[in-house]
Amino acid sequence: MEQIPVFKPLIEQEEIQAAVESLQLGWLGMGGYVGKFEEELKNFIGADDRYVVAVNTGHSALHLAMMLIGLQPGDEVITPSFNNIADFQAILAVGANPVFCDIREDTLCIDVLKAEELINPKTKAIISMDYDCCLADHEAVADLANRYKIRVIHDAAHSFGSYYKSQKIGTFSDLCMFSFDPVKTITCIDGGALVVKTQEEVEILHEMRLIGMGQPASVMYGNQRAWTYDVNRLGFRYHMANLHAAIGLSQLSKMPEITKSRQKACCLYNTLLSGVEHIKTPNSDFTDVTPFLYYIRVPADDRQALRDWLKKHGIDTGIHWQPGHWFSLLSNARQGDLSVTNLIGSQILSLPLHSMMKEQEVEYIANMIVDFFKTKSNV
Ligand SMILES: *Cc1c(COP(=O)(O)O)cnc(C)c1O
Repeated sequence: MEQIPVFKPLIEQEEIQAAVESLQLGWLGMGGYVGKFEEELKNFIGADDRYVVAVNTGHSALHLAMMLIGLQPGDEVITPSFNNIADFQAILAVGANPVFCDIREDTLCIDVLKAEELINPKTKAIISMDYDCCLADHEAVADLANRYKIRVIHDAAHSFGSYYKSQKIGTFSDLCMFSFDPVKTITCIDGGALVVKTQEEVEILHEMRLIGMGQPASVMYGNQRAWTYDVNRLGFRYHMANLHAAIGLSQLSKMPEITKSRQKACCLYNTLLSGVEHIKTPNSDFTDVTPFLYYIRVPADDRQALRDWLKKHGIDTGIHWQPGHWFSLLSNARQGDLSVTNLIGSQILSLPLHSMMKEQEVEYIANMIVDFFKTKSNV
């Protein structure tokens, strides 16, 4: 039987055509497509007073964000333990230490009251991550950051295209990061971006993403390069290449349809599953969000059996995520009370969600979940 995957990238004729054209151009590195992608991202977000810097992955965007704010070895960054490994590794990459904070049960995003208890003189930044359709309490995070003079890194890998209190994600944060990896709402195959407030930050990022080479992006966006330049700072090979930007541009132009189809699938899931005993569905009507994934919460003791049952019926499921403090590498990190994280980490389950997903597929998956619990209560 053909499996329904958790994620399914929407690669159509347009993306393939865009890729071919970018290859035929003969300029494979960072060039005009990257400049155009940054411009279109900025237009899409509507961040008139912000700057967009494209890089090769979401992880490198996070690493550069940590460098940009000047983290030093021994500094601390507060992050939800319920987060992507990329965030933890970016903190470690600059020699800083992640400090694990709990999430709120109603939003699955950072619990700002608990975060405040974790702040000490070593705290330099806090990561506010939007979990899928549930957005972090960005006002409370910004208020906390102002009071303690710490920076905010907004991980918006899940919330690209969404609105927080009528403001588009990317328009209001101290530093905002996106990922366009293979499974994200839109993809560059691999890609990422940072949204920053000042031209000065842009220039630093431009050097850091290009192994420190201080050559103007404007030259490269003309599909050319400078042969002489200075090197002022530590950098990495983190720039985005034309091929990836070309695919990203094509994806970006489909955001209206992508958003609608994902909202529709999530609404249908919620309708079909919200009455089902044992299951908790997202508390959202999905109107202001572009959902990246669809999750449910199931009793921890049933989760693996349900996953096996669905697998047997051709449905793949995922787990986003195993909390950070469960990993060997990070088990000794400083942490507060993580009771909600431990609970959610054992219950969370991602169901298939695709752009342009068929109604019948959602219905089939929902029915199979209902059947699982029916079958179970009969034995
Ligand atoms: C995907 C993701 C990242 C990492 O992005 P990559 O492009 O895969 O490196 C970081 N944070 C969150 C929340 C993500 O979902």
